[in-house]
Amino acid sequence: MDYKNDIEEAKKARLNAYSPYSNFQVGALLRCKDGTTFTGCNIENDGIESICAERVAFTKAISEGKKEFESIAIVGSKKGEDPIEKCLPCGYCRQFISEFVDKEFKFILEDNNEIITYTIDDLLPNAFNL
Ligand code: ZN
Repeated sequence: MDYKNDIEEAKKARLNAYSPYSNFQVGALLRCKDGTTFTGCNIENDGIESICAERVAFTKAISEGKKEFESIAIVGSKKGEDPIEKCLPCGYCRQFISEFVDKEFKFILEDNNEIITYTIDDLLPNAFNL
């Protein structure tokens, strides 16, 4: 799998972020097992909870009928800065994503030009499940 390409697509999606409060822009590219992809960016809101790029990508995919997921590439940095350091998903997203992925699902991050992957067990060990 060309993880670098997915990182580049996530960087493009990041430019759509609406983040006037934090000025932190996140982009994500979710890859389904059937090869289709969905992008996401963070969308902030003054009055109610903001939505992270990862959950935007998942909600787009699930609302289009997708159920099986392979990986998600995530990048983030302050507006106007290149995403250089890895951008790990927040706790809310880790719990949310754990509902929909298997143990082979990969979180793809870039840290100083090095690709790093994590599984859901790496990021959310001993997850809460009903
Ligand atoms: Zn999040």
